[in-house]
Amino acid sequence: MAESVHPASDAATGVDVRGRCLCGAVTFAARLPKREVAICHCDMCQRWTAGPFLTVEFAGELAIEGADSVSLYRSSEWGERAFCKVCGTSLFWHMAGTDHYALNAGALEDKSALALTLQIFIDEKPAYYDFANDTPKMTGAEVVAAFSGGATEHGSNV
Ligand SMILES: [Zn+2]
Ligand SMILES: [Zn+2]
Repeated sequence: MAESVHPASDAATGVDVRGRCLCGAVTFAARLPKREVAICHCDMCQRWTAGPFLTVEFAGELAIEGADSVSLYRSSEWGERAFCKVCGTSLFWHMAGTDHYALNAGALEDKSALALTLQIFIDEKPAYYDFANDTPKMTGAEVVAAFSGGATEHGSNV
């Protein structure tokens, strides 16, 4: 039963998730507002992950164990990217100076019941792949506009 598998799932209280890097040196925990996955196709995410970056996003507290093994790379004026020093796993993108995070969905322990709901920076997606999922798509410019004139990135150009 889904109810027993996900006792913490509740639209009012959020969803508690845990994740870890490939080697296990870093684990993290957070409470998500919903079980939604977004994809960023931007050029920076492609370089960082070897593909598009599939994330679960939230604003709030991110609990990290093994922080000594985390490196932060400031990839733009707005964003920084965390990865495991030991195994190289991409852990999360963080909007600098805020509590907004985009966690690596692939690093979550429990990926069940997640739904792909958005694709961003679709204009930077290379032609050699396409997702069959039918989701809303936003260009980089639309993403920037939606986040009030430049206070986001995920990437590139801003
Ligand atoms: Zn690791
Ligand atoms: Zn990106």
